[in-house]
Amino acid sequence: MRSIHYLLFLTTLSPAYGAALLSRGARDATPTLSSAAEPTPTVPYASTTPNAVLWGPASSNSVPKPFRGKTGASVLGPDNTPIDLQNPDLFAPPSTDNGDVANSKWPFSMSHMRLQTGGWARQQNTEMFPVATSMAAVDMRLEAGAIRELHWHSTAEWAYVLKGTTQVTSVDQDGRNFIATVRPGDLWYFPPGIPHSLQATNESVEGSEFLLVFPDGAFSDDGTFLLTDWLAHVPAEVIRKNFGITNPDAFSRIPSKQLYIFPAAPPADDAEDVSDPQGTVPQPFFFPFSQMAPTKLEGGSVKIADSTVFDVATKIAVAEVEVEVGGMRWWHPTQDEWTFVLEGEARITIFAANSNARTFNFQAGDIGFIPASYGHYVENTGNGTLKYLEVFNSDRFQDISLNQWLALTPPALVKAHLGLDDETISLLKKVKPTVVGPPSSFK
Ligand code: MN
Repeated sequence: MRSIHYLLFLTTLSPAYGAALLSRGARDATPTLSSAAEPTPTVPYASTTPNAVLWGPASSNSVPKPFRGKTGASVLGPDNTPIDLQNPDLFAPPSTDNGDVANSKWPFSMSHMRLQTGGWARQQNTEMFPVATSMAAVDMRLEAGAIRELHWHSTAEWAYVLKGTTQVTSVDQDGRNFIATVRPGDLWYFPPGIPHSLQATNESVEGSEFLLVFPDGAFSDDGTFLLTDWLAHVPAEVIRKNFGITNPDAFSRIPSKQLYIFPAAPPADDAEDVSDPQGTVPQPFFFPFSQMAPTKLEGGSVKIADSTVFDVATKIAVAEVEVEVGGMRWWHPTQDEWTFVLEGEARITIFAANSNARTFNFQAGDIGFIPASYGHYVENTGNGTLKYLEVFNSDRFQDISLNQWLALTPPALVKAHLGLDDETISLLKKVKPTVVGPPSSFK
């Protein structure tokens, strides 16, 4: 009975919960729980109708139809079936979805590719994803040796290396320099305005690819300040005067327009920096996140890198989360949350207050965005491990667990809201269950 009740508890709770969550259906299915505290609802119980994902992107349901229970009808007009297959909870939403929630999914595949000799970049910002007001992102690819040229911008830059190895350089406002070779799963961070460069080494013959996140949703990588672009727009004699160089040919090979990304000979791996009389930056702009031991959880694992361990990263914090098959996580963030799926499949229902809730499905390469305070869960809906990043425009990682919140609230108060029985109350977790696995009855 315990496992059955736990199962019902998990499957019936919905982010669109109102005053009464435990349904009559669940109570009917657990008749021995007659000692449960009786709620005094002023409204009917929420439905316990299952709302499972109806198909996946690789489903044999090659032409899905928008039916959920007794609602829906077939599509008669033209329709983009591959997109329906990837978004079953938009096409046939859970009955718990309601009202309006801003679009909270952006696949990088829908971003314009800026193709260059030596690589490419594609970005996500409020131009195409209006809900994400506090963070923008760039996915950038450099072939071995290719350079994202020396540049700066007024927004801080945080990066997570996806593949390959990238050499990053910088010089701060006090003339202290920095160089690092950054490998997959590792991070870099440049404070606002600090000039920097990125270059793929040849440690991997394919070069590198990395994810950049900026704590400003309006950031555009097309608006950054590039060394070549700057010098191409300054009179030549002014450049010579600045550097005190009289040779008229000394600056005669400056590119006439910006290079942005361009090919070059790869640097040596783990190269040392130029000798600097001011020394190197006091807080490294690099963090070996890949070497951090994950905290093992009941249904997965988590690693967190914020300014408590990566001192310089005062505007971006990250959690790298793994959720095992059937597992999930349920909370609300105290800050806006930007999510990126690294592998696997997920669904997220976003609860936007006042009965508004909407469910989105995600595959690897998709971005999600959850505004601060919006309750949500992430459920692994695939057949393998779900691995994703939770990124916050904040110096600290913080979340509020639904389960822990209820466990640490007086039981009578919880019972009065949700009609839970003593056994269910006893199963609530006082220590934050960041990621939970499915009860054994799910397996
Ligand atoms: Mn940059």
